[in-house]
Amino acid sequence: GRLQTSLQAYPTALESGELWTLLTQIAVAAQQRGWHLYVVGGAVRDLLLAPDGTAISLKDIDLVVDSFRSPVVEGAGVVLAQQLQKQYPNAQIQVHGEFQTAALIWRTRAGHAPLMIDIATARTEFYPYPAANPEVEPSSIRQDLYRRDFTINAMAIRLTSPQPGLLLDFFGGYLDIQQRQVRVLHANSFIEDPTRIFRAVRFAVRLGFVIAPQTETFIRYAVDSGIYADLQTQQTQRRLPALQTRLKTELSYIFQTDSWAQSLGLLDKLGALSCLHPSLSIDADLWRQLHRVGRWQQRFMEEVGEDIGVAPWLLRLEVLLARVEVRSQIATNLQLPLGSIQRLQQLAPIEAHLSDTLQQTAQPRPSFIYQTLILYDLPLLLLISVRHPQTIGTYIWQYITQLIHVHLPIDGHHLKRLGYEPGPLYRQILTALTHAILDGDITTAAASAEAYLNRHYPLAQGGS
Ligand code: ATP
Repeated sequence: GRLQTSLQAYPTALESGELWTLLTQIAVAAQQRGWHLYVVGGAVRDLLLAPDGTAISLKDIDLVVDSFRSPVVEGAGVVLAQQLQKQYPNAQIQVHGEFQTAALIWRTRAGHAPLMIDIATARTEFYPYPAANPEVEPSSIRQDLYRRDFTINAMAIRLTSPQPGLLLDFFGGYLDIQQRQVRVLHANSFIEDPTRIFRAVRFAVRLGFVIAPQTETFIRYAVDSGIYADLQTQQTQRRLPALQTRLKTELSYIFQTDSWAQSLGLLDKLGALSCLHPSLSIDADLWRQLHRVGRWQQRFMEEVGEDIGVAPWLLRLEVLLARVEVRSQIATNLQLPLGSIQRLQQLAPIEAHLSDTLQQTAQPRPSFIYQTLILYDLPLLLLISVRHPQTIGTYIWQYITQLIHVHLPIDGHHLKRLGYEPGPLYRQILTALTHAILDGDITTAAASAEAYLNRHYPLAQGGS
């Protein structure tokens, strides 16, 4: 009943109430085949967390179909999804993972988040014999839940008879919700999958939970046992790309939230940043950089009126990775966008070059700053400025907020009218004018620019 109320109120790509109808239909279809259907994972957690009768907001709904008691069908989830799609032709179907799971996706209603219903098949291969005792839940759903990360994510609600609405809670998830703690199911959980450390922190911070003391011990144990080395040496193994992809996903979730600093602080405290690099930890200076980068990106937007073109969370992650020397290698492993990898690759040589060049004299001329920095992309410059705010950062800031926006009173057409022969000279003249304006040698009035041209680029005698 409570599930129904909560889902009914939930605004999705479906009409209100339609979601519940839909789940009921999938359940009936499962029941007719002698299968069980469960809602699992985040939806159950969020439902138990929400006060009675309130709507819960879900990105997606995870269902598990258990065909354990009847003829075992490998792709039971897919079978159900296909059957449902016949009734809902406007849903898209996606089949993945060796035909074990399927997703139905509705993107139809404008202005509403798309809805994804994932139908997975409970794994049965672990079980040598059928569960005979009707008092005992078929162990395949239990096993399915046991493979999950935390007790609060490892509960299921049955949608099929008998007892539809029954909460399956084998590992004490409900108690943990009441005690507001994130707890793993077994001691090896983090060794098995280090990205769970990041998930633990993400859920703890998001839900306002603590990480259970013993779970914290397991995290520290996993960290001490050399997760970084593991992650690197598995490079040739098949597991690694998937692991790195998940790590990147978790990092992006953490960096995208407003509470990124709290999560990052907790990760640092747990030593978990060593998943990225053994020497990575956050000192006071790095904290300042991490806070600064978002503020400055915002300020850039306000002063210049345009976006710098890189998502703030990504730039913040780059600031973190920039702290270690093998930064671009880590970015490559994490499969960050090419732009990020290149920025991190270029960072050290360009920082060194800019320090040398711009700090040769006490007061470089604006035209010199302009000429030096025009070679580089804005996001790279912002990254460098955040790392060197007192030194080259001040020149960079001057460049990106003022110098780059200089307005020339004269353009190519104008030069042509004045009688200059079109060609490479135009570029040279316009650059010279830009420099002259930046240095205050001339003003932005056309007359001033023309006088400058007469002085420095006199038209040839008898020329056009
Ligand atoms: P959110 O509200 O952030 O989407 P969620 O619980 O739905 O939370 P997902 O990342 O979508 O989180 O994962 C769905 C479910 O899959 C989880 O509830 C959990 O049971 C399981 N799961 C996800 N990642 C892992 C993992 N690394 N190890 C074990 N189980 C996992």
